Amino acid sequence: MLRAIVFDIDNTLFPSNDFAEYARRNALTAMIEAGMDVDENTAYKKLRHVIERYGPNYPQHFNILLKELGVKHNPKIIAAGIVAYHQAKTGIFPYPDVPKTIISLRERGYKLCIASEGKALKQWDKLIRLGLHNMFHEVFVTPKKTGHFYKSILDKLKLKPQEVLMVGDRLDKDILPAKSLGIKTVLVAHEHAGKGADYSVRNFGELLKIIERLEK
Ligand SMILES: [Mg+2]
Repeated sequence: MLRAIVFDIDNTLFPSNDFAEYARRNALTAMIEAGMDVDENTAYKKLRHVIERYGPNYPQHFNILLKELGVKHNPKIIAAGIVAYHQAKTGIFPYPDVPKTIISLRERGYKLCIASEGKALKQWDKLIRLGLHNMFHEVFVTPKKTGHFYKSILDKLKLKPQEVLMVGDRLDKDILPAKSLGIKTVLVAHEHAGKGADYSVRNFGELLKIIERLEK
């Protein structure tokens, strides 16, 4: 019997990649407007390299960007980028069907959890902006999603693997390490049908049907 459903956040509950691109482009447009004399696509490619090299949580992407573009340090340009980036971030919203599916699962009595990789503060920031922060019973954030992380979730929930369903978009982070413990898995594959999980959905709303089938 299924007792708990565990969700990934990024690209599972909301289109994180699309919003990240939108926020970065928004920032670059503002930086160009504030005097950065570089075309947007050049700056965008360079910014992606900077983020890859320094990691997404490094606090000074725009400083490094200016340096790498050969632009003299300019706090006005950096501030313009930061403001525009954060303004774009306030506009994030969930995929269609996410809030109503979550509410419906809660009403059916499931324990709903988050299993997320990254920094706790940033992942809570996303849940709050998405308006989903009070929908979950437990939120687990780890620097790296490993089998050990999923095992610790089972321990904290005091549940057996077969009582838990993991829902996420990444085979390597959400599906395989959970599946290796015997947790049932659903891959959220927006672009194309995914393989490697017990189930695969294109849209979040399809989750209800899978759960109903599991309960039969
Ligand atoms: Mg994800």
